[in-house]
Amino acid sequence: MSRLAVVFGGSRGIGRAVSKLLAQRGHRIVLLSRNKEAAQATAQSLPGENHLGLSCDVSKEEEVQKAFETINKTCGTVGFLVNAAGINRDALLLRSKSEDMLSVLHTNLLGSMLTCKAAVRNMLSHGGAIVNIGSVVGVKGNAGQCVYSASKAGLEGFTRSLAKEVASRNIRVNLVAPGLIHTDMTAGLAEEAAVRTIPLGRFGEPAEVAQAVLFLLESPYITGQILLVDGGLQLLM
Ligand code: NDP
Repeated sequence: MSRLAVVFGGSRGIGRAVSKLLAQRGHRIVLLSRNKEAAQATAQSLPGENHLGLSCDVSKEEEVQKAFETINKTCGTVGFLVNAAGINRDALLLRSKSEDMLSVLHTNLLGSMLTCKAAVRNMLSHGGAIVNIGSVVGVKGNAGQCVYSASKAGLEGFTRSLAKEVASRNIRVNLVAPGLIHTDMTAGLAEEAAVRTIPLGRFGEPAEVAQAVLFLLESPYITGQILLVDGGLQLLM
């Protein structure tokens, strides 16, 4: 069955790959990012018709509310939500500035809470499925990523709790935790050294994360799960 799928952070990287795969499966996509032109361009590049690109900063409640008003008015009721908007400001804790800490927490954690709240309202009568994008460092921790890791670990607790809260309405909530994936976010990393820590011996591709997201969105009996998509990285952390 074709559904309306809303993908935050859909203009680039993992969110773009998720949008593409969902569009290939026949779902209608609304994808959002702060950069409106980028969101619109990605929406236009997707297979199929009637996809929409909107601008929205997930860390701002009024922008999230406005985005959902637009989505409901122009496209209808949301069936799938994917939270792929995220940033990092990696630094040792002693060097981290509080404004950077707040930016990371507000985008990665509060942002997903706000979009889930709005989406769950949409899903109360017809059910639906949500996938949040966490990280292997939320599961395992990593020096130099205390704040980012906390934002992603928080998202895990949020995912499990929300899954319990809304299961009776046939709304499922899961989390995909990627390892090192080729996107703008990892472009500055020294890849040669990093791949030595990955059992499969390479970075992952956004499309490989998208496969896991699709699986969870379309699996009617899975909720409250954390699925690592990391080439085995967590085994050595
Ligand atoms: P990219 O930097 O490639 O893409 C991030 C996306 O999020 C862009 O579309 C960006 O658009 C959007 N975004 C950022 N901030 C906001 C905001 N405040 N409001 C709305 N949209 C926003 O990152 P990835 O694709 O790599 O990351 C996607 C998710 O996966 C993130 O949550 C990240 O933490 C997580 N992840 C990534 C890993 C990796 O190795 N790449 C590993 C583990 C987890 P714009 O800038 O225009 O707003």
